[in-house]
Amino acid sequence: MEHPGRRAGVPMKLLEYQAASLFEKHGVPIQKGVVIDSAALAAGAVKKIEEAGLAFPVVIKAQVQIGGRGKAGGVKFAENAEEAEKLCARMLGMDIRGFKVKELLVVEKKEIAREWYLSIMLDRYTKSPLLIFSPVGGMDIEETARTSPGRIARVPLNPMEKQTPLYVIDYVLDKTGTDKNCRAALLDLVQKLYTLFFAYYTMLVEINPLAVDARGALTALDGKIEIDDNALPFLPDISAWRDKLQEDADVIEARKSDFLFIPIEDDGSVGVMSNGSGMLMSCIDLISKKGMKVHAALDLGGGATAERIAEAVRIMLGRPKITAVFICVFGGITRCDEVARGACIAMRKNEAAGKQLILRIEGTNKDEAARIVAESGLPITVAEGIPKSVEAIFALHQKEGGGAQ
Ligand code: ADP
Ligand code: MG
Repeated sequence: MEHPGRRAGVPMKLLEYQAASLFEKHGVPIQKGVVIDSAALAAGAVKKIEEAGLAFPVVIKAQVQIGGRGKAGGVKFAENAEEAEKLCARMLGMDIRGFKVKELLVVEKKEIAREWYLSIMLDRYTKSPLLIFSPVGGMDIEETARTSPGRIARVPLNPMEKQTPLYVIDYVLDKTGTDKNCRAALLDLVQKLYTLFFAYYTMLVEINPLAVDARGALTALDGKIEIDDNALPFLPDISAWRDKLQEDADVIEARKSDFLFIPIEDDGSVGVMSNGSGMLMSCIDLISKKGMKVHAALDLGGGATAERIAEAVRIMLGRPKITAVFICVFGGITRCDEVARGACIAMRKNEAAGKQLILRIEGTNKDEAARIVAESGLPITVAEGIPKSVEAIFALHQKEGGGAQ
């Protein structure tokens, strides 16, 4: 990596069937399934379901990177082949809270006695993996959290211990009033999940529901895995899955230059760029306080050259809704004159578009940067400090007739 650990990780959220394949690899019990896309549908979805050896009734599940699909019409049951064919045709192309359904996962419908919730997440507060368990899981887990918080147990796990102790399992079962018939199976499953948690640099591994059948066997019926994207260079198999995810085209474009592009409010008109996520957040807060909306943010990372700055500004200016780009750079490794030069390159190419740039730079070669901007004759305002920059953005915003959005 060019800049190892230069910014906080952003979770790459896997699709359910991708998560399921990692579960399978680590011995977490799942149901066998088949993925149907539009090509498979055209070739006969039922044929594919039958070839995979699945028996009816089946469950058809929209593969989108968000939870709550069941409540949004993204999980449907089909009693027979005819129903399955119809549902596959209807669900492909469907929109689920802004995500287009391009793939479906079909699995057999399972007889479930109970639906549990189980997850391990990276907890920034305790700086350790946090095990969360509830015997009242499934689609209403949020309701459980609200109405019966006592039925959800949270235990920080010692990151230095790679084995989950049995007392942790006993603790979560006792605390949530769950019978202990499945304690051995749960320990085994938590251990496998914990191994997976470390192996893939995950920020979250979640099974909801973890189905318990009449015999007490456990099966993961849904899976959510979020991987720290800083680790992707070490995980080529996971990186290859990125193509299947629905991402903003500029997020992908920015990533090519190792920038982090974050779409924020679709109807916003300000683009904010900085070298650090903390600084970005402060800028966004101050801009929002003035009643303006930020359309997108871009984290440059460290040590940006004029070419990289120009590329980042180009991406920002390319967003039709952005009318003003704010660059807030504290030049430690980054030289201010390089930032100014880069900004000028991008603005010169974009002159006709009538967009404005506000530049706040502090640090090495600051005066040289101001001179470059002054001599360029481009619509770039150099401002002193963040509050004054925000005032400058606000003044431009008023002039455009944006008023308070
Ligand atoms: P989401 O969490 O996105 O709503 P899930 O995969 O958890 O989607 O499915 C929602 C609900 O559908 C589950 O809580 C469960 O009740 C039911 N369900 C999911 N898969 C199956 C299955 N294979 N057999 C029976 N019921 C299922
Ligand atoms: Mg679920």
